[in-house]
Order: sequence, then structure tokens, then C-alpha cells
Amino acid sequence: MSWEDGVRRAEPYVPGEQPKRADVIKLNTNECPYPPAPEVKAVIGNMDYETFRLYPDPDCGELVEALSAYYGLSEKQIFVGIGSDDVLAMAFLTFFNTGRPILFPDITYSFYDVWADLFRIPYEQIPLDDAFQIRAQDYIGRDCGGIVIANPNAPTGAFLPLSEIRKILDANGDVVVIVDEAYVDFGGESALALLDQYDNLMVVQTFSKSRAMAGMRIGYAFGNEKLIGYLLDCRFSFNSYPLNRTALSVGAAAINNDSYFKEICGKIVCTRERVKKELRNLGFSFADSKTNFVFARHERVPAKELFEMLREKGIYVRYFRKPRIDNYLRITIGTDDQMDRLLAVLREYLGAPE
Ligand code: PMP
Repeated sequence: MSWEDGVRRAEPYVPGEQPKRADVIKLNTNECPYPPAPEVKAVIGNMDYETFRLYPDPDCGELVEALSAYYGLSEKQIFVGIGSDDVLAMAFLTFFNTGRPILFPDITYSFYDVWADLFRIPYEQIPLDDAFQIRAQDYIGRDCGGIVIANPNAPTGAFLPLSEIRKILDANGDVVVIVDEAYVDFGGESALALLDQYDNLMVVQTFSKSRAMAGMRIGYAFGNEKLIGYLLDCRFSFNSYPLNRTALSVGAAAINNDSYFKEICGKIVCTRERVKKELRNLGFSFADSKTNFVFARHERVPAKELFEMLREKGIYVRYFRKPRIDNYLRITIGTDDQMDRLLAVLREYLGAPE
């Protein structure tokens, strides 16, 4: 008998590489290329370091109030966490305890199976169709323990219309359905609109992409008061002070500047649409993306080769060595200048005309 027999073994999620060099064009973790709202800088400048002596507000009041006002929901319908990873992990722990398998797509955010394994939750991965779309009918008539759908999906970028989400909800009233909307602000439509009609729906969003604050680790969820209450019970059985003082203040400040938020999302969408056209001209194909990335494969050159070539040139994109997607690159949409550099390097390598 050894102490290692008592260890909970886990196979961790592998995040995208964080480069050590400063001159890298970083298009591998779907961060926002623009700075956070200007108010965030002012808040940081005015922070009183002496308050760091004290624990932060366990209820995250400042941030929850700002989210409540912005989304028009009661504060009791909002849960916040340390990035949406923390929110999602807490939801898996809280809601998926029937012993029946939970369902999510075979190609989706690759943290879902990691949490399921960590918490010993059985799961079934439902194949996307050949065009990398989720088929709602695959989630109907199943005796499952819960459902998790990223919408838009990652890493495919594809958006499932709310009418299809509604079909999944109608058929699964006896389990919690999580809709992970990390990328919804880049052209999707939020399932928030369905919250009144489904008491088993939980919608998760993040500050990491559209609000340009991946470094602050802020995520949040919406649900009815009872569902959020259960999440809070588990949260407070685990950690009383999830978000630190800085994150609470800058999070609230960012939410309050809606015009800046809309401006940067608009710029990213505009760049994305241009990049899609240019990538197509270079021989790439992809499912239509409603996110801040494109998931593309080239008609001739293997993705792994392109990934390594780009890395050599100081451009980091994401490559997954996984079945069905190992010939695809996930390319985050950066600034116009960053994307021009990427396109120039690809054009040169692929031997395409100017
Ligand atoms: N959901 C999806 C679909 C994601 O791609 C990500 C980003 N890796 C997350 C959730 C987690 O993001 P964060 O913890 O930064 O909010």
C-alpha cells in the first residue's frame, strides 16, 4: 500500500501555449487584441492597496449588481466565478449527479471531458455531422444526466440557432442543460432569451474574449433563482471568496461601458469577415464562424505543417492532435495588422499570387 493508491488521478486540460517572447503574434487562445475599456485603467489607478489586507466580498456584490443591471435580471439569477472554467466546473459538480451519462459533442471545448473525468461523471460524446454542425435530434429521446452545448461551438465556430436549442430543452426538462456562450458576442444569439421558459437552463458567459479581460479571470452564469441557489451552495462549500478585489472592481467598470464593448466586438467581426474571404482565396475551407476565431483546413497542405511553419515565423495558432480535427488550424482573429501579417506569410508559403 502506498500513498499513491489514494490519489485522485486526473488527465489535465492542455491550454494554448503562452509565448516567452514578446514579439509573437498570438492567435492561439482566442484573446481579444484590443485593451479593456478605458474605465478599467482608471479603476486600477485608483485602487487602494491597503484594502488588499481584507478579504473580498464573498457575494461579489459590485460585479453581480453591474451584471444584473446590464442584463436586466435579478441578482439572485447571477453566479460569478474565476473565469467561466470555474463556473462550468462548479456546475458539473453541482448538477450532474444522477449517474446517467451527460451528453456533449465529440468536437467541442476539450475541458468538458476533463471535468467529467475529474468528478467521475459518466459521459457520451455525440458526433457532429460532417459539416461540423450539432444536430438537435441527437439530444432528443436520450436517458441522459445532463447536456452541455457550447454555442457558438468551439473550436468549430459554428452557431446553432436558438430554435434548435429550444428543441433540446423541450426534450430534456428533467436534467440541467448548460449553454456555454463564451463566444456569443461575436454574432451569435444568447439563450438568455429562453431563461423565463426553462427552469433547467443555465447560460454561461465570460469576460475573457469579448470584454478583453482574460487576464482577470471573470466568468458568470445566468439561471433561475433556485438553480443559481444550488450552485452557490456548492461554491460556498468549496471557496468563500472566489473573485479578488481587483477583478470585482474592473469587471463592474468594464460592464458599464457598453459602447466600447460594442465597438471592439464590431471591429473583430469586421476583421473576421475580411479574413474569411482571404483565407478562402488561399485554398482554406471552414464552417462559417460566428466567433473570434476561424477553424480552417487547407486543400493541399497539412495543418501540422502550417502550424509549425507559422510558429517558426513567430505566429502562434492552435493545432489539436485529435481525431477528426488534426488537419485543422484554429486561428484567433487579431487586429487588422496582425491578420495582414498572417495572410502575407501564408501567401508566401503557399505560393499564392499577391
Ligand atoms: N468555454 C469555451 C467554449 C472556451 O473556449 C473557453 C476558453 N478557453 C472557456 C469556456 C473558458 O474561458 P474562461 O475560463 O477564460 O472564461
